[in-house]
Amino acid sequence: MKEERDSAGRTVPIREGLFAVPGEKPERPYLLGSRCRRCGSVYFPRRAVCANCLGETMEEIPLSRRGRLYTYTIVRYPAPGLRAPYAVGYVDLPEGVRVFSVLTGWDDENLGLGIDMELVVERFGEDAEGNEVQTYKFRPLQG
Ligand SMILES: [Zn+2]
Repeated sequence: MKEERDSAGRTVPIREGLFAVPGEKPERPYLLGSRCRRCGSVYFPRRAVCANCLGETMEEIPLSRRGRLYTYTIVRYPAPGLRAPYAVGYVDLPEGVRVFSVLTGWDDENLGLGIDMELVVERFGEDAEGNEVQTYKFRPLQG
């Protein structure tokens, strides 16, 4: 007889305030940005003061789930939570913000400058309490 394992572990973001995952299926996570009410500049991660005009009235906005791959590199040495080879890159979102991200779902065939990317939220690891830690990544848009 198998032992029932307590599966009370929750999923937690790698850092609060980076992204949101609505509870619907299919899940459509999005990044949380901030926009300056004075000059309209958009930032990710969110910030309290505008780097452009020093305005302090920032509003939280959901960022687009899709963007274009500006540049990337393939890393051939492992890092905590990442097996080699892995890819990192910058994705340009329509709001005018450039997001640094680990890339997923790629191979040598489907990765290239300027391709369309979409946001996903994936398991990164486990914390000390046994919760699943999630992080955001971008992957090449299928089809
Ligand atoms: Zn501003």
